[in-house]
Amino acid sequence: MKRRPFIKNIIRAATVTAIAPQLSLSQSLASEKNSKKLGIALVGLGTYSTDQLAPALLETKFCYLSAIVTGTKEKEQQWIEKYGIKKENVYTYKNFDRIIDNDEIDIVYVVLPNSMHAEYTIRAAKAGKHVICEKPMATSVSDCKKMITACKKANKKLSIGYRLHFDPFNDNMMRLGQSKFYGNKMTVATEFSFNVSDINHWWRANKKLAGGGALMDLGIYCLQASIYTFGELPLTLWGKDTTKPDSIFNEVEGSIEWEMTFPSGKAYCKTSYESPFKSHLILNTEKGKLELSPSFTYDGIKGTTPDGEMELKNVNQQALQMDTFAQNILQDTSSIVPGEMGLRDNYIIEKIYESAANHSAVVNLNDIPNILDLRIN
Ligand code: NAD
Repeated sequence: MKRRPFIKNIIRAATVTAIAPQLSLSQSLASEKNSKKLGIALVGLGTYSTDQLAPALLETKFCYLSAIVTGTKEKEQQWIEKYGIKKENVYTYKNFDRIIDNDEIDIVYVVLPNSMHAEYTIRAAKAGKHVICEKPMATSVSDCKKMITACKKANKKLSIGYRLHFDPFNDNMMRLGQSKFYGNKMTVATEFSFNVSDINHWWRANKKLAGGGALMDLGIYCLQASIYTFGELPLTLWGKDTTKPDSIFNEVEGSIEWEMTFPSGKAYCKTSYESPFKSHLILNTEKGKLELSPSFTYDGIKGTTPDGEMELKNVNQQALQMDTFAQNILQDTSSIVPGEMGLRDNYIIEKIYESAANHSAVVNLNDIPNILDLRIN
């Protein structure tokens, strides 16, 4: 395979899927009135909904923000005014199930603390809605299974908020890694970390609400990136809890590292709430190093290959992610990041914790769910 045409194709693919330039709020609200866009209800109006998802929904072509679910009275009027949401489309956690009677909600997007994902996904499916659930899908494999069963029973689609599958730089890494473009033998090294100084009132430090620490929240990106770069399922792994002895984290791990073996090589992953900011994905190949740095941010991702810089543009990952799912529903196609992938990742997370609790013993991943996002034929 020749290099330039291959890289050009990737750029073209990214351009074709590029989203429309941002509309002004009034233009966007006016166009929504007559359009057949699918309505999305955001459940949980915290940081991610407020700063990323709601603004992204002003840029989407196939879906729009039609409803909100919140437990905070003050947020209701603010969101009604800012996003033109109808008063009758505002729900609380208590009356959430009444969405069953609302035709303006096609998709429920669960953006709550991790341990609440299962309950709201299942309730949404029972109300006859398609679901996007944030990562990690749940805090246990058994909850993931219940969520998949509920959506299947209701004949509704379930997708996970894995936004980086819609980012051109990570897509390029998938294509170059999966095609073994720079050689058959590869090693991945990846880290996602930042420093948290205060855990008071932070649900992510609470075992019951978060399910785990840095691994559940940040490490899942490293786990995902290793798998989509190889385009293979891991065979074995070991894990080690590296939380600092004087850590402020006492219920969940503050830091953890692990290694996974794949048919084509190994991936070494690190994640921490106790380290200066790090976000990188490195692929060492027979013909040199490929690197995304930063790799997992919402914007500003940069990439290099042995042939130079990746000539790609950052996109609105969340807008593309939600538009693609809306198209999956409209065209009755499968999500590239379905519930089964979320289950696979929760399975690996449980195995990493199992190894870490057992002196880093090597764990076989014999019964790993067989699901991959493959970008090559
Ligand atoms: P957040 O703390 O900012 O918001 C959480 C929301 O849940 C708040 O509106 C809060 O009021 C509500 N909530 C309801 N019941 C609660 C309870 N019992 N305790 C605490 N909060 C409760 O969190 P966030 O950063 O928006 O994260 C929400 C989810 O989104 C998490 O699962 C997280 O992993 C995921 N997330 C994903 C990305 C991504 O890039 N895909 C980025 C950030 C967060």
